[in-house]
Amino acid sequence: HAKDAGRNNYQFYARRMNEAAGERLQLENALRQALASITPEDSPFSLHFQPQIDALSGAVIGLEALARWHDPVLGEIPPTRFIRIAEDSGLIQPLGDWILWETCRNIRHFRDAGLHGLRVAVNISAQQLRHENLPRLVRGILDCYDLTPLDLELEITESTAMQNPELTLSVLRQFADMGIMLAIDDFGTGYSSLAYLKHLPIHRLKLDRSFVKDIESDPNDAAICSATVALGHNLGLELVAEGVETEAQRHFLAELGCDALQGFYYSKPLPAWQVAAFVAAHRP
Ligand code: C2E
Ligand code: MG
Ligand code: MG
Ligand code: MG
Repeated sequence: HAKDAGRNNYQFYARRMNEAAGERLQLENALRQALASITPEDSPFSLHFQPQIDALSGAVIGLEALARWHDPVLGEIPPTRFIRIAEDSGLIQPLGDWILWETCRNIRHFRDAGLHGLRVAVNISAQQLRHENLPRLVRGILDCYDLTPLDLELEITESTAMQNPELTLSVLRQFADMGIMLAIDDFGTGYSSLAYLKHLPIHRLKLDRSFVKDIESDPNDAAICSATVALGHNLGLELVAEGVETEAQRHFLAELGCDALQGFYYSKPLPAWQVAAFVAAHRP
């Protein structure tokens, strides 16, 4: 009967929803425990660093710090999953703080190992930006590791920038006034208004990898990439392409005038200890 079928469907979906909610809750609890277990010697979280390459010279000009979480029971949990849960549960505050400290600790190590001029970008989520003392915290961490604002770059996604525009603008201004570089991540996916973006004190646009993927075969994607590069340059911004996986994509984006390239074609995100060797191998 239709009615029974409807009820069965409902029960099926309700059960699936409960399973999903249960799994989410399990992850949230594991995340809370993982954060509580951090000590100066040991952490279930770590950072990997993905090189950013100068499109003209082929030199490494920067790195993006990307969070990793290895849980002893649950295994490797991808950041797309745990960052979202951290955001929804308020845990992004302690996690985001740890990521900032750990990023700067690593920059100090890179400098001490003789790697100079490499800026490290760190992803900042919308909830973190909402805390008005974030600029002061960042300043304090930089001072603590004897770093300068030029050593650091902050990435916020286009959709983050569009949430709470007034607060975002005021926080970003404080960072820009300090001399910290700002990038708009996943650019092209967030429906942001250019009228708003033009007021933000940003330095770089990161072209989302969904446009790069089929750049050679899809004329629309090629047009979007080309228009975005032109738009960014006309606004005085640097263009970084994400998700560069092939030589053909590299060539295409370099021809468009993209300033920097990031993707598996060059390197996956690397553990910190592999960074120096990678940089040395890519000296032009
Ligand atoms: P994102 O900031 O846009 O980072 C780029 C993502 O693309 C990374 O995934 C990177 O490994 C991946 N990627 C880089 N090159 C390629 C490529 O050539 N092909 C493909 N298919 N993928 C590529 P990851 O590390 O899994 O991070 C996913 C997202 O999770 C990040 O996207 C960012 O939104 C978020 N995330 C990661 N770490 C952090 C963090 O420390 N804080 C915050 N707030 N978010 C983070
Ligand atoms: Mg990013
Ligand atoms: Mg991105
Ligand atoms: Mg992304």
